[in-house]
Amino acid sequence: MSGVEPFAATTVEAAVETHCPYCALQCGMTLSLGEKGAWSVGARDFPTNKGGLCRKGWTAAALLDAPDRLTSPLIRDRKGAPLRAAHWDEALDRIANGIRAIQSSHGRDAMAVFGGGGLTNETAYALGKFARVTLGTANIDYNGRFCMASAAVAGLRAFGIDRGLPFPLEDIPGAQAVLIVGGNPAETMPPIMQYFDAQRANGGRLIVADPRRTPTAEAADLHLQLAPGTDAALALGMLNIAVRDSLVDTDFIAARTNGFEEVRRIAASYWPDRVERITGVPAAQIYKAAHILGEAATTIILSARGPEQQSHGVDNTLAFINLALALGKAGRQGSGWGCLTGQGNGQGGREHGQKADQLPGYRKLADPVDRVAVAGVWGVEPDSLPMPGLSASELLAELGVAGTIHGLLVMASNPVVSAPDTDRLRERLASLDLLVVADIFLSDTAELADVVLPITQWAEECGTTTNLEGRVILRQKAKEAPPGVWTDAEILVALAERLGAADRYGRVSAPRATFDELRRASAGGTADYAGISYDRIAAEDGVFWPCPSEAHPGTARLFLDQFAFPDGRARFHPVRHGEPAETPCADYPFYLTTGRVLAQYQSGTQTGRIADLAAADPEAFVEVHPETARTLGIAHDEMVEVTTRRGTAELRARYSRKIRLDTLFVPFHWGGRGNANILTSNTALDPVSRIPEFKISAARLTKPSRSVSLERTA
Ligand code: SF4
Repeated sequence: MSGVEPFAATTVEAAVETHCPYCALQCGMTLSLGEKGAWSVGARDFPTNKGGLCRKGWTAAALLDAPDRLTSPLIRDRKGAPLRAAHWDEALDRIANGIRAIQSSHGRDAMAVFGGGGLTNETAYALGKFARVTLGTANIDYNGRFCMASAAVAGLRAFGIDRGLPFPLEDIPGAQAVLIVGGNPAETMPPIMQYFDAQRANGGRLIVADPRRTPTAEAADLHLQLAPGTDAALALGMLNIAVRDSLVDTDFIAARTNGFEEVRRIAASYWPDRVERITGVPAAQIYKAAHILGEAATTIILSARGPEQQSHGVDNTLAFINLALALGKAGRQGSGWGCLTGQGNGQGGREHGQKADQLPGYRKLADPVDRVAVAGVWGVEPDSLPMPGLSASELLAELGVAGTIHGLLVMASNPVVSAPDTDRLRERLASLDLLVVADIFLSDTAELADVVLPITQWAEECGTTTNLEGRVILRQKAKEAPPGVWTDAEILVALAERLGAADRYGRVSAPRATFDELRRASAGGTADYAGISYDRIAAEDGVFWPCPSEAHPGTARLFLDQFAFPDGRARFHPVRHGEPAETPCADYPFYLTTGRVLAQYQSGTQTGRIADLAAADPEAFVEVHPETARTLGIAHDEMVEVTTRRGTAELRARYSRKIRLDTLFVPFHWGGRGNANILTSNTALDPVSRIPEFKISAARLTKPSRSVSLERTA
């Protein structure tokens, strides 16, 4: 299966080489203006997607002519009043006055910023600088915290560097064994499946661990259908077998790692029968998987949101890294552990400063040396920079009259759909003194705002993103933005001027100049972009970081010689299986897990507007095993209610024999009463990464209550 869909070519006048606006594969594509004035997407032989695109990519050009595009600022004169069109000066004055009032009454940290994993590196960098230098607030974080945060922490702890894949995709076909844990790339990024298809065609074995029999699992040689929340136990069970059957690489462990003995001791208590009882995966399958991974000359283990979006997300991820290290399958040509990053610029977005604890170049805000380095580039005193602030979930929990944050600037993010426990979040957002949302459409979050600012979209300005491989790529500008639309960077400069901070913040808004400043700020940091330029990216099909000088070739493969600690050795971490915050009980007898579908992306603000995609997946649904549904008297296609301790979502029942009897699956792409995140928890967080437990809630499934039925037929 290639997962690559056909494309009908059209007559074009010119073609611009660029990249898809959606996921972290950042497929290369061309954008062309046809004779009839319509934009269309064309194939491009870029090294990652090799000409393939999924249906989201093929249809992306429809966004460029969307009829409901925002082209004027909108203002709400008072709470409860409708949004009305306004001039930019009025909107920016309103924002600046609001920020001044909030910060003079409640302090600088009372104004917060919320960014997005879809922002370019330039915008993410500018937003982080704006928060620290213009606003002086500690409170900035982004929706990437909901996505890759656990893998980022685990990678840092084990290897010393967080880069989604420490090797290029081109290594996958050569791997004799691949394990994908909790990922469904056949639906989330279909063109990547050509690498796994090639791997299997070369005689390699593919294993998928997932509670659902997804299209990715169906493409595998072995599917481990574990119970939600048991990922670490599964990894420990495989490690138990690897130790017992002498599959571990003792020479590698001795030469290149620290801390194995404690991990080995813990794994000894995860014998296969016990792990079968915890995970529901037959011991024979665990044995088979351990032997496939351990006996292969080259093995790649890939983590995704399944194990990561849990209250034990970091430990789950470290458990699989431990397995890779014990087998000697990390830091070697053809082998490694990596994370399948989800959001378009989820990687770059967490490197350059929009994360609560970070400065550009993956520097640490709490590190005195890092503060001096970045403050020097910014021309400010190191002591003027705030210390790390609240993580995304904690920041959102502090909003409004009951919290410490009274104003929020949201850029290209839609937390009303994508954040956990959205009913409570709506209430908090509505009680803010000032909510500003910059977006291309009137998203669910923008509908609640006091001020909405219309911004450029992906093809209307150039900028870099960093794909799941750590390859920095360039999105080229293909068209002018509609009149009335500004770039994010122009907005930040204009606000800095109004707030009297332009001398500190600067007046740079051009992407290339911003990128050059980012390069200087990242120089010497972990994610060193100093040697990467727009010209090099265009000439070389992207450049891998770290790349400390223009003479440096970039670093496609990390850790081949040493891991990124002073002693060059990777770290094992002694982790155990831990129970999720909620498990099924009498009132809530099912596991609820959330995720994505092929035709939609994130909160659906973009893909929900594209007719082909909306037709393919038009509404929210709950996937349920037919035997489970029939015991509840629920028919296929019937409207039902899914309820957790947070609230009730109204969804269409969709039968599937590919899900466990005890598990429900709800995709999170829709707002309203079908929003999956009505159901998820904002308090069950991983203690280190602070990622919410999107993958597990205890839930019940019922026919609609009488009131809901009447509402729907009224
Ligand atoms: Fe490629 Fe992802 Fe875009 Fe699909 S959504 S075309 S996989 S970048």
